[in-house]
Amino acid sequence: MAIQCVFCKIIEGTIPAHRIYEDLDVIAFLDINQTTPGHALVIPKTHYDHFLNTPKILMNQVMNVAQRIGQAQMQMLHAKGVNILSNALQPAGQSVMHFHVHVIPRFGPHDQLKIEMLHNSQKANMDLPMLVNQLKSGMHEK
Ligand code: 5GP
Ligand code: ZN
Repeated sequence: MAIQCVFCKIIEGTIPAHRIYEDLDVIAFLDINQTTPGHALVIPKTHYDHFLNTPKILMNQVMNVAQRIGQAQMQMLHAKGVNILSNALQPAGQSVMHFHVHVIPRFGPHDQLKIEMLHNSQKANMDLPMLVNQLKSGMHEK
């Protein structure tokens, strides 16, 4: 447990949260800022900063719970779709440094979440085979 970590405090119960799910390794609760109604966070009980340094087995457990919550958002909240999102490190928008997956139900084009991927006009100048080689050689089996 990380002493200053708000999610570790939720796990130990010193900060309240609206809990959806809990098992030995994983908990899920409503995000305090409900981007759309039912916006959930899924986290491992052991503190890891972000998904890049979380053990694979724990990643799988977190993603399994995220999928089940997404299914519940569709079935019970009548979501029309679901986004999952995990920000790793501050430049990617991470504000709480305890690995978490957002599970955000979507209700249509005018709900409160906007995700926009802009076309990169520099693409013509990118060496795509070199990028593939770099990424391939950086992928480590653990
Ligand atoms: P990040 O920006 O790191 O991807 O997301 C962190 C999320 O944690 C934010 O959406 C924020 O609303 C949520 N959050 C921060 N503090 C608390 C808290 O004390 N309780 C709950 N339930 N959510 C929190
Ligand atoms: Zn933590």
